[in-house]
Amino acid sequence: MKTTYRLFIDGTWQDGERGTRDVFNPSTEEAVASIPVAGPVDLDRALAAAAREFKAWARTSASRRAEMLSRAAAILAGSTAQLAQRMACEQGKPVPEARGELKRAHETFLWSARHADELCKPAEIDERRMLLYHPVGVVAAFTPWNYPAVLTARKLAPALAAGCTVILKAAEEAPAAAVAIIEALQEAGVPPGVTALVFGKPAMISAHLLASPDVRMLTFTGSTRVGKELAALAAGNLQRCVLELGGHSPVLVFADADIAGAVRAICDYKFEYAGQSCNAPSRVFVERPRYADFAHELVRVAATIRVGGAEDTDAQMGPMIGSQGPARMQRLTEDALAKGARLLLGGRRLERKGYFWPPTVLADVPSAAAIMSEEPFGPILAVAPFDTMDEAIELANRTSYGLASYVFASSQQTQVDVAERLCCGSVGINMLKGVAPDVPLAGTRDSGYGLEGGEQGFRAFQDVKLLNRTA
Ligand code: NAD
Repeated sequence: MKTTYRLFIDGTWQDGERGTRDVFNPSTEEAVASIPVAGPVDLDRALAAAAREFKAWARTSASRRAEMLSRAAAILAGSTAQLAQRMACEQGKPVPEARGELKRAHETFLWSARHADELCKPAEIDERRMLLYHPVGVVAAFTPWNYPAVLTARKLAPALAAGCTVILKAAEEAPAAAVAIIEALQEAGVPPGVTALVFGKPAMISAHLLASPDVRMLTFTGSTRVGKELAALAAGNLQRCVLELGGHSPVLVFADADIAGAVRAICDYKFEYAGQSCNAPSRVFVERPRYADFAHELVRVAATIRVGGAEDTDAQMGPMIGSQGPARMQRLTEDALAKGARLLLGGRRLERKGYFWPPTVLADVPSAAAIMSEEPFGPILAVAPFDTMDEAIELANRTSYGLASYVFASSQQTQVDVAERLCCGSVGINMLKGVAPDVPLAGTRDSGYGLEGGEQGFRAFQDVKLLNRTA
C-alpha cells in the first residue's frame, strides 16, 4: 500500500499547494509513497511561523530544549523497526544498514541534548570579559537521500538545541526518516512553528527560502554543484553557510600494511549503501610490491558480497537510488577501460528490475580516466599502483575534493607523514569510519566549508557576542 506523506507547517500536517509526486522503491521501480509539493504560499507560511516562534524558542532555557530533544530521541528509538523497513523500501539499503543509521541519528540527538546547557552558557574570558552565545535565527536545512536519518539529525539536533527554528527541506527520494523525526519532535513537545518540513521542487524551495532575510543560515549536504548554487543565493542576504559536499576519497596502502585487514575494512565501508556515501573510498593506490596481492584479495572479498533488494533479508548491498546511478557507473567503467584500465570484477548492470550495479573493481586505472577525478558515488573501486610516498600523496591530492582520506601502513612514521600531507578534512589510519556525533566533519576545497558535528558544529548555529565591562 502506498504511504501518503504531508508537509508540516506551523504545527499542522497538510497537503502541498502544487499537488503530489511519487516516491519509488529502487529495488522494484514501483511507486511506494507520495509526497506533497510545496508552493510559495506554503513556504511563506513556514517562514512566518519560524520567524515568529524564534523569539520564544531562543528564550526557552537550553535545558528545557534539551529535554524535548531527549524525549524525541526516545520516541524515534521506539519506531526503529518499522522505520528501518520503510527506509529500506524507499532507498534500497539493507534493513540492518537502515537500523544502524537510525541508531546514529538517535545518538546525535542525545549528544546535542547532553551538551546544550554547557554550549549555550556564557563563557568567561577573565573578570572583565565574557562571550555570550545566541542562536543565529531561522535556519534553512537541506538534506540528501543517502543518509536521511543521521544527516537530518546532524542538522536539526544542534540547531534546535542552540535555540534556532528550522525549515527542513528533506530529500524527496527518501522522505520516511525526516517525517518520523519531525513527528517525534512534535510529540516531544517542540512548539508549532519551531520546525517545518517541506518537499517539492528543490531549486524553487531553496531560492524562495534564501530570498527571505528572515533566514539567517543555510545548512546543506549534497553535491558540489548544488552547494555552489546555494552559496551564491545565500550571498544575497549574507546567510551563513555550512556546506557538506561531494568527496572522492583516496586510500593509500603501503607495502608494510596488513593487506587482508585493509581489504576487509575497505569493502565493508565502500559497499555500504552501494558506495553512495560521501566518505566512501573510491580510489585505492597500493605500493607496487603488494599491488598484485592486494588486487587479488580485493576481488576475492568483493565477489562474496550478496546483492539484493530491500525484501531480501540476506542482501549485503542493495540497488542505487535511481536510474542515473547505473548509467553513471557504466559511463565511468567504459571510459576507464577505453583508457587502459583492466576490469577485475563486475562492470555490468544486473539484468533484473531495479537500479542494481554490482561491486566493481577496476585495476591499473590511469589518472586520465574520468573516474580518477569525477566522484563516482557508487560501488566502483579504481585501483592503481604507486612507487614512492611523494607519488602516492600527489595521486591522493590530485582531485578538487578534500573530504576523507585513508592510510594503511604499519609504520607509525609513514602514518604521521602521510596524514600530515593529505588535503582533506579527516584521515582514517588503518580503518574507515563514519561520522560520529561528537566530532566535526569538515570538508576542504570542493568538499565544502563550515563544520557539522561536535562542539564546532553546534557553534555553527550560534552568534557570538563579546561583553566588555569596567573593573
Ligand atoms: P544533489 O546535490 O543533486 O542532491 C542532494 C540533495 O539535495 C537531494 O535531496 C536534493 O533534493 C537536494 N537538492 C538538489 N538541488 C537542490 C537545490 N537547488 N536546492 C536545495 N536542495 C537541492 O546530489 P545527488 O546527486 O542527489 O546526491 C549525491 C551528492 O551529494 C554527491 O555528490 C555526494 O557526494 C553528495 N553528498 C555529500 C555528503 C557529505 O556529507 N559531504 C553526504 C551525502 C551526499
